[in-house]
Amino acid sequence: MEILSGLEAESVLRKGMEMSTQPTMKKDDLIVIGGAGGFIAGALTCYFHGRGFTRIRAIDKKPLPDWYQRVPGVESLCLDLSERANCVRACEGAVEVYNLAADMGGMGFIERFRIECLRSILINTNLIEAAYRAGVQRYFFSSSACAYNTELQKDPHCRALKESDAYPAMAERGYGWEKLMSEMFCQEYWAERGMKTFIARFHNVYGPNGTWDGGREKAPAAICRKVIEAKDTGNKEIVVWGEGTQTRSFMYIDDCTKGIDMITHCEDLIATPINLGSSELISINELVSIAEEIGGIKLQRKYDLTAPRGVAGRNSDNTMIKRILNWEPKTPFREGLAKTYAWIEQQYQDRKAGKATVRENYQAGGA
Ligand code: NAD
Repeated sequence: MEILSGLEAESVLRKGMEMSTQPTMKKDDLIVIGGAGGFIAGALTCYFHGRGFTRIRAIDKKPLPDWYQRVPGVESLCLDLSERANCVRACEGAVEVYNLAADMGGMGFIERFRIECLRSILINTNLIEAAYRAGVQRYFFSSSACAYNTELQKDPHCRALKESDAYPAMAERGYGWEKLMSEMFCQEYWAERGMKTFIARFHNVYGPNGTWDGGREKAPAAICRKVIEAKDTGNKEIVVWGEGTQTRSFMYIDDCTKGIDMITHCEDLIATPINLGSSELISINELVSIAEEIGGIKLQRKYDLTAPRGVAGRNSDNTMIKRILNWEPKTPFREGLAKTYAWIEQQYQDRKAGKATVRENYQAGGA
């Protein structure tokens, strides 16, 4: 990967400063956000809106009532971005485009639905071309730590993954390979066509307003929900996927949105994949203990060794982000999980009381 190493080498020479947001943007520049009915892009829409950006176009293929967050004053469209014509419509007049649309979920989803995950390549392929043709100034792509070589993640006490560890490539089947190919599209749109692209490799993101049941949820939300259910039903047992020794780092949503903004407005990071994740390593067993503490309950653990468990260990090496942005995701896991738990508990109670909550209605295979 000549492009990556060249830009990285150049970046080393420059000293980073913590960025203030949008150095070059006007408040009425049009920002387009794909996947905005989902967790991270929904939060990103709120983030930009909260910073006074007056023209935001939020897009998702889910029907509007199923979006986690709908922000007043934001143009919200239900469009399937795997279709070329919809991408052209989405990018009309855009100054910046953020692609966070993907058919994805936690381990249970990405191990079972590899074809759906691979098909997300259509979204980035069509959206980046439409963005280029529309003369977009900056294009952001949400990649994943699943793009890293799985051979390096066989030990729960793994060394943290640094950006160069994606090659030689042996990404997570399906989901990880789609991310790696889409990253390459982003790099080539800069190298061949001069469009500024930005690529963050997210490590597990969690927080309120995300999937917490239905099969696509990730470990922090799933464990919170199981603790809440156990308290509610009085069945003091919790099923943990695998032996519980798998380790991960988890990034709180507010760090994620801030990181996306900083990365997309950093000239040193054009077409350069960078980790965006916490470097606080947590085992699944520790995650369960923290959720139990928050819920004020102790549960009997049952380990399901047949369940999907993913790689043995994965952490984010934040050397590069600290060097270039002089920043890294900082929210302590316990603090972020307490907020997430409180939100899921409210959703749980509301649903039980028959109040409207956002359900994950949209199923795999519906592409
Ligand atoms: P999410 O499932 O909550 O949101 C993704 C959204 O994309 C969904 O609302 C979905 O309806 C939408 N979408 C799917 N196909 C679409 C299409 N063809 N057209 C328009 N919209 C479509 O997931 P998220 O957690 O918010 O993830 C956002 C991005 O971040 C994804 O690219 C994901 O791969 C990446 N990522 C997330 C995590 C994480 O921990 N959540 C980790 C690594 C990478």
